[in-house]
Amino acid sequence: MPDLPSAPPPAIRLRLDRDALAANWRTLDRRSGPGRAGAAVKADAYGLGVSRVVPALRDAGTRDFFVAHWREAAAVLEHVPAAQLSVLHGPLTAEDAAYARMLGVRPVINSLHQAGLWLDAGGGLCDLMVDTGINRLGLPLSEIGDPLIERLEIDVLLSHLASADEDSPLNPLQLVRFEEASREIPARRRSLANSAGIALGRAYTFDLTRPGLSLYGGVPRGELAQDIRQVAYPQAALMQVRQIGAGDTVGYNATFTAPAPMRVGTVSLGYADGFLQCWGGKGALAHQGSRLPLLGKVSMDMVVVDLSAAPMLREGDWVDVPYALPEAALLSGLSQYELLTTLGRRFSD
Ligand SMILES: *Cc1c(COP(=O)(O)O)cnc(C)c1O
Repeated sequence: MPDLPSAPPPAIRLRLDRDALAANWRTLDRRSGPGRAGAAVKADAYGLGVSRVVPALRDAGTRDFFVAHWREAAAVLEHVPAAQLSVLHGPLTAEDAAYARMLGVRPVINSLHQAGLWLDAGGGLCDLMVDTGINRLGLPLSEIGDPLIERLEIDVLLSHLASADEDSPLNPLQLVRFEEASREIPARRRSLANSAGIALGRAYTFDLTRPGLSLYGGVPRGELAQDIRQVAYPQAALMQVRQIGAGDTVGYNATFTAPAPMRVGTVSLGYADGFLQCWGGKGALAHQGSRLPLLGKVSMDMVVVDLSAAPMLREGDWVDVPYALPEAALLSGLSQYELLTTLGRRFSD
């Protein structure tokens, strides 16, 4: 096989506002005081790319990073020391535990099974997740007195809030249970709050917080709306421009019919890029402030827009995908989390 030339850049790109990312971390860190804010960078930094996000956060001052899977650790370790990384899912097999020890990252121990695996592998500094009411992953409070837990060498004692984005009685209940657990379990540091938990106030922030969504521009509670800036700006190129007549239809199943002659454009953006079909017929792309309403269904690699408001647009021009997360969530019906994590792998920087 001859060496192939490198491919030209794709017709979709994702601009990352690194200043906004760093500013969001500083905002969340300030709100976490006297504790510090870490960063959840699982799922490739919520789809925005570990290789871009982690160096920016590290340079802003982040010292504690969280991924979910063992497979996600190596990419983060290209940018930060192993002592600064925790793996939330913990070891499910002896192989996982051995891998954690080889890398030097901290596993988050979530059960007696995991505690046993970690100790059998030789143990060492770890984190411990206790379940204070989400009933998802974490050691049940009834098991915190187990001798296996006493043998753990715990850096961060964690728990996770189920309803921090609402004013729920579950929040103060989980807080009280976490305080009780932390009186019984010796640990160097304590951590309860995700992004929404930080907005609940100082009682919830302890030594370390674990924001994810709000680093990347998500606003899970109104308290953060003024301070959190948009980070991700997807753009896509116009591939074809055409004039259609009254009565012509657009796209699969002809769900849009032109009421009058109009100029339309085909954009290189589809559901395989994370622009899901729920957007079809709703909302608009944009160009320098002009709205370009979406017409018909979203295809795998393409979507068609109305160019009436921007008659100067030509093939090869770039259009913006509105991605202010709170507004985009309302319009699409997707959660702010899904909007980020569904963004596809075909975007270039
Ligand atoms: C994903 C995750 C976070 C981050 O939550 P956000 O709501 O995105 O801020 C924090 N802690 C744990 C355990 C998580 O799994």
